[in-house]
Amino acid sequence: MRKNPKKSPAQARAFAAFLAFFASLLALFGALGCTPRPEAAKETFAAMDTVMTLTVYGGGSDDLAAAKDRVLQLEARLSVTDPDSEIAALNRTGTAALSPDTAELLSRSLELCARTDGALDVTVYPVVRAWGFTTGDYTVPDEDTLAALLEKVDYTKVRLEGDTASLPAGAEIDLGAVAKGWTGDQLAILLREKGVESALLELGGNIHTIGSKPDGSDWRVAVRDPADGEGYLGVVSVSDKAVVTSGGYERYFERDGVRYWHIMDPATGAPARSGLASVTVVADSGLYADALSTALFVMGREAALDYWRANRDFEAILVSDDGSVTVTGGLEGAFTLSGERPLAVVRA
Ligand code: AMP
Ligand code: MG
Repeated sequence: MRKNPKKSPAQARAFAAFLAFFASLLALFGALGCTPRPEAAKETFAAMDTVMTLTVYGGGSDDLAAAKDRVLQLEARLSVTDPDSEIAALNRTGTAALSPDTAELLSRSLELCARTDGALDVTVYPVVRAWGFTTGDYTVPDEDTLAALLEKVDYTKVRLEGDTASLPAGAEIDLGAVAKGWTGDQLAILLREKGVESALLELGGNIHTIGSKPDGSDWRVAVRDPADGEGYLGVVSVSDKAVVTSGGYERYFERDGVRYWHIMDPATGAPARSGLASVTVVADSGLYADALSTALFVMGREAALDYWRANRDFEAILVSDDGSVTVTGGLEGAFTLSGERPLAVVRA
């Protein structure tokens, strides 16, 4: 048997031609400023009361299927309106054994309720229901009804020992203000374990990005204009971040010319009227961004900026009722308004 056979002249020419062809392809990609891109796999489905679109680059349909299964598993555990969920069982009986997922989310949510001094309060559910936001059967509850319900609202009374949670009589919890953000975190963990380094996870208004775009540039995430909930306020450039928005425009009803929305002030039992129309939070953690978008909306502009100054572990875009926009310093250069309107950048 011959080892290292010499190539015939014809073979050598063919090989040289192949090399030249390959080199010219590389040169062409170089000239175009790109390298071959990993393909996108994409799936859209309804879950957690919204429409989700997951786009994964360089992964396969297996990764997408696993991510979708994880969303559906978490929805089945966390949904307050699904009678078979762990949260529904806890609300019904006042005590329940929780899966590690639900226990972790509840435990971290209770910490965030404390950190935001109760602007986020996972026990606000009886109030949310009284306004009809769980069924779409909207009403404006009278003051006595709200006063009675507010007696039940107090996250400090929720007990979590090991995997067993318990509530005082009449109290009920709802993780709707944080569930999608935390789900984004869980999907990022799952997909990264599968080797995915670039993905855009759109969980309704919650955006979670893994890495940057396949060409190495930042993701450009559009932020809605709360004035109509349709047009765009601007675009924020991020990589490896969650971008989460809470706004009165997302779910509301009108009575006698007054608009009532789904984000409640746990201090009053009524929709939070803080002077803000929407809050977008950019943070490493989806859970933190989701908790804060709700809590800062309740707090209002000044308290939200104080919270940012005291913590500096997130950035925010605050849109006031008059349409003016405030962004925190870390977003300077990363956020671009799409039209003309007042913009203030707060640096310290
Ligand atoms: P988000 O869209 O993330 O701001 O969450 C709003 C949802 O969380 C509402 O639909 C309610 O189910 C619930 N919620 C409303 N107000 C609060 C609050 N202050 N703290 C905790 N959850 C709330
Ligand atoms: Mg939220």
